[in-house]
Amino acid sequence: MAIQFRRGVRLRARVTFAFGLGALILTTVLSIVTYLLVRDNLLETREQSAQSVATVNANQAQRRIIEEIDTGTARDLLSNLRGVRAESTPAIRLDNNWISADPVLFEAPGNIDAELLNLVNASESSGAKMRYRLSNGTPVLVIGFPLTARDALYFEATPLDDIEDTLNALSQILVVTSAGICLLGIAIGAFASRRLLLPVEKVGQAARAIATGDLTARLEVGRDRDLEQLTDSFNQMASNLEERIQADAKFASNVSHELRSPLTTIMASLEVLNADKNTFNEASSVALNLLTEDLERFRQLVEDLLEISRYEVNANALELERFLLKEFLRAIAIQSGHALLQVEFLNCDDQTIIEADKRRLARVMNNLLENATNYAGGATRLTVTQHNTDIEISIQDNGPGIPEEERNTIFERFARGAEGGRRGKGTGTGLGLSLVAEHLKLHGGKVNVRSHEDGEDGSIFTITLPKVIK
Ligand code: ADP
Repeated sequence: MAIQFRRGVRLRARVTFAFGLGALILTTVLSIVTYLLVRDNLLETREQSAQSVATVNANQAQRRIIEEIDTGTARDLLSNLRGVRAESTPAIRLDNNWISADPVLFEAPGNIDAELLNLVNASESSGAKMRYRLSNGTPVLVIGFPLTARDALYFEATPLDDIEDTLNALSQILVVTSAGICLLGIAIGAFASRRLLLPVEKVGQAARAIATGDLTARLEVGRDRDLEQLTDSFNQMASNLEERIQADAKFASNVSHELRSPLTTIMASLEVLNADKNTFNEASSVALNLLTEDLERFRQLVEDLLEISRYEVNANALELERFLLKEFLRAIAIQSGHALLQVEFLNCDDQTIIEADKRRLARVMNNLLENATNYAGGATRLTVTQHNTDIEISIQDNGPGIPEEERNTIFERFARGAEGGRRGKGTGTGLGLSLVAEHLKLHGGKVNVRSHEDGEDGSIFTITLPKVIK
């Protein structure tokens, strides 16, 4: 069962973005609600006080306007009235004329909307009010009452610029606060997502470790009950996988072991037959040759399988020891039929001692030298170079070389290259180089192959080992 994950924006970015967006929406709504509540409250309070003051003033004007009819005395009357603010301005509209101390507010035609005039005229004594803006931008509240005694209208205008200033300041504060909260939301989102995804990251690390061969990798059992199930399931899965792989390896190991003894008997019998080969007729001789070749291949396969199963059952069992590299390489060279091959120490002491699993390293060198014999007419150069604490051993040959596209695949199990496929080129199984890579990986080292830099035919296999003592 494959679980699909949506690709695209990374999960952490999405969580952070969601936190930021959430904070933005929340603060925007809160800011708008706060602004509207404060605005309505301020205006309502101002309107109520303006209305009650204007009512008192209108009554006063109503009483006195009966006698004081000319413009001058009406102006005196108006200047004695006190509005809700010092800037509040009263006015009387008498016989279509405005009488006011402030010409800007009332004497400029059209300042008082016709709608308000109609409302006031129709409002008997309760009055009417209206908010509007002067041409200079100042907001004002105008309250008007009919003065029934003289068929006149009384108005009182109160500027609302102080409220507007307060609201402007409030909106600026709200915008700055919202931006701050939004940034805080993003920061919290980034922090929370990192913390939340930490267990997922650990699962990823453990899965990667298992995939690269460390079957013992497990998740730590923490105190978080929410993650307990994930940890338990993962560890259970890893244990099952380890058991399964070990059981398979054990099976392969047992089978290989069982095959070994009859194979030894068959090989011994074959040797006897081969000793008398010249007494056979031609057909029997050809059949014997084919049998010998295939049996050798079969023996190699059994040996390699045994090695692989040993590797998997005992994945981390390195038996490290210190030894003189030169002596070791010379012995392997002679053993693999390269008696004339000298070990060249290019930039390090030929008394270099390394720390490695000798048996495994011998297997590595043997495989590479045998391949050189099988596919390239033998190794031509064996060199040692040191880089910091890494040691590089290179085996060169002048064979046909390895095509670019095969240079990675030949290190996989059962992979054979173009040369390996050619008839008469040894008895390979495609396991040799994969064993080389696995043995080196256990040491923390690696292997690679390249062609000669000067364009000469052949390949250079280089192994890197990290442990040099001197
Ligand atoms: P096998 O030798 O059993 O085929 P290996 O894993 O040892 O398996 O080698 C894989 C392939 O790499 C070989 O089949 C061969 O094609 C190629 N190869 C290995 N060494 C050399 C070499 N020195 N020169 C050319 N080809 C080589």
